Amino acid sequence: MGENESNSSKMRVVVRIRPMNTREINNDEESIIEQIDDKALVFDPEVEEDAYLQGFKKVARLGQKKNRKHRPRRNNTFCFDAVFGDTSTQQEVYEQTTADTIETIVEGYNATVFAYGATGAGKTHTMLGTPEDPGVICRTVQALFTKMAELRESSTDTKYKITVNYLEVYNERINDLLNDSKKSKDLPMRDIAGAINIRGLSEKEPKTAEELMAWLKEGNNLRTQHPTDANAQSSRSHAVFVVHFTQMAGTTRTISKLTLVDLAGSERAQATPNMGLRLREGGNINKSLLALGNVINALADPKHKGHINYRDSKLTRILKDGLGGTCRTIMIANVSPADKVYEDTLNTIKYADRAKSI
Ligand code: ADP
Ligand code: MG
Repeated sequence: MGENESNSSKMRVVVRIRPMNTREINNDEESIIEQIDDKALVFDPEVEEDAYLQGFKKVARLGQKKNRKHRPRRNNTFCFDAVFGDTSTQQEVYEQTTADTIETIVEGYNATVFAYGATGAGKTHTMLGTPEDPGVICRTVQALFTKMAELRESSTDTKYKITVNYLEVYNERINDLLNDSKKSKDLPMRDIAGAINIRGLSEKEPKTAEELMAWLKEGNNLRTQHPTDANAQSSRSHAVFVVHFTQMAGTTRTISKLTLVDLAGSERAQATPNMGLRLREGGNINKSLLALGNVINALADPKHKGHINYRDSKLTRILKDGLGGTCRTIMIANVSPADKVYEDTLNTIKYADRAKSI
């Protein structure tokens, strides 16, 4: 990673392609994304049969896969800081995304990681994972615990503490995911001297990474489900997990913040040519996702000067001190390989491609 330092970009953008699931395999879905190497992919690759077909139409058709569509191929190559194929492990994704934010945090800077992509593309799997195979959040916090233990040994006069919040932004309401009570719904948010304060939000101090993992799992179950589509779990809710790392030496206190976000499904937000986000369904505007797109757009635009509209949504207000400036930002764009979600995948890749220029 180190040799990329000349790249002044503070945003690290990676793409993770999930494997085809059983249903997609049984449906003989075509894969429309191909990993070339650890940094490149081809969207909608040329298939051999296409070339073959020109000369030997009938023969080739006999052998073609049921759902292989004969149409012009985009065959677009995209490069990212990393591309993870469908056999990538949780550990590999962790190592190449958030592992080095531990240093950032210890040095006193903030970092933000967000998983972007359509519903079903693998965001929650990447961020949360399962108890047997935990995702980025747990691995990062585990590493922070290990680091804290090392620091405690080497500098006995400094005190260290990890505290966490876990919340969702759903329909521009903030719900506490560490507290399952009515009182934890629609918490009020205020700016106090430039810092965001969410009144009543639980702040917990995990003793071990395992304890934290249990809270995360419970919290994830508290996420609001789509009322009319139970299969699209949490598709409109943004889950925001915040780790505060406090270092106290004498009267000096440094608090750095690591924010890990499992965003709402991007399928209703479509990338437009200038990469603003447009929303497909009138009635279902996900204000926070739209505002995040606009903030990223503004941060990415070298011609953009001055004001960035963080105030446009709850999510961007929460992320304000974790984006731009001296912060480290990592975007994990999750995609499905299945032809069925061609447009969603293309939009996600374009969005990620745009974010590279931040
Ligand atoms: P999202 O949160 O983006 O809606 P999920 O993370 O819930 O998507 O993933 C959808 C399904 O695909 C889940 O059943 C999940 O376990 C599975 N899945 C996603 N990514 C992977 C992966 N990299 N390897 C194996 N299974 C995956
Ligand atoms: Mg999810």
